[in-house]
Amino acid sequence: MPRRPDNPGACAYCGEIVTKRGVGKHLDKCSKRQEALASAAASSRPVEKLWHLRVQDAYDKDFWLDLEMIGSASLGKLDNYLRAIWLECCGHLSMFTIGGWQGDEIAKSRKANAVFEPGITLRHLYDFGTTSETDIKVVAFREGRATTKHPIALLARNRMPEMLCQECDQPAGWLCFECFYEAEEPGAWFLCDEHVTDHPHTEYGEPIALVNSPRLGMCGYDGPAEPPY
Ligand SMILES: [Zn+2]
Ligand SMILES: [Zn+2]
Ligand SMILES: [Zn+2]
Ligand SMILES: [Zn+2]
Repeated sequence: MPRRPDNPGACAYCGEIVTKRGVGKHLDKCSKRQEALASAAASSRPVEKLWHLRVQDAYDKDFWLDLEMIGSASLGKLDNYLRAIWLECCGHLSMFTIGGWQGDEIAKSRKANAVFEPGITLRHLYDFGTTSETDIKVVAFREGRATTKHPIALLARNRMPEMLCQECDQPAGWLCFECFYEAEEPGAWFLCDEHVTDHPHTEYGEPIALVNSPRLGMCGYDGPAEPPY
């Protein structure tokens, strides 16, 4: 079966559409990113290792983020970031692992520098009931100063994958929870602006607007799926 092309994303600095593979190359020549690096270099922030991470839903590769994390920050900061941008619904437990459920837990108090090395992949588990599984691959690192005062900077993020209305196959903007929980056919829970208006289901509340998160609909997750900073 031919593979679907990778869902592209947008550079967080200039907004240009980038392929998942092309993020690193784009950042190297992105003038806005280069400006941010230049002003970081002139700042009084400490020189340290900065880790380039590729974050991806373990099962739905349409959802991905590229992040830069300072080496002195703990994994707890990354957990906070993932909750804010993708995951948080009702304060569930979470953990980092190497190897997933069967693997080893990596404590959130560990610092990035103590855990990361290029090529390593961590799996983050959020909610041990309806679990969201997220892979964090360490792509590369640089030595320098952080571009912001925060422990993590967003480099690029996937574009909202296109969902199609179950009634008319036009682009959808809404999800019906009742269809989501009870549909027999995968994907038969999205609705367009027109078909959402006369959709009969309210057992799990009104349909919700789609947000750019792989957790959409799971445990009632409805966003906002915005970066915390
Ligand atoms: Zn750019
Ligand atoms: Zn929940
Ligand atoms: Zn429709
Ligand atoms: Zn429905």
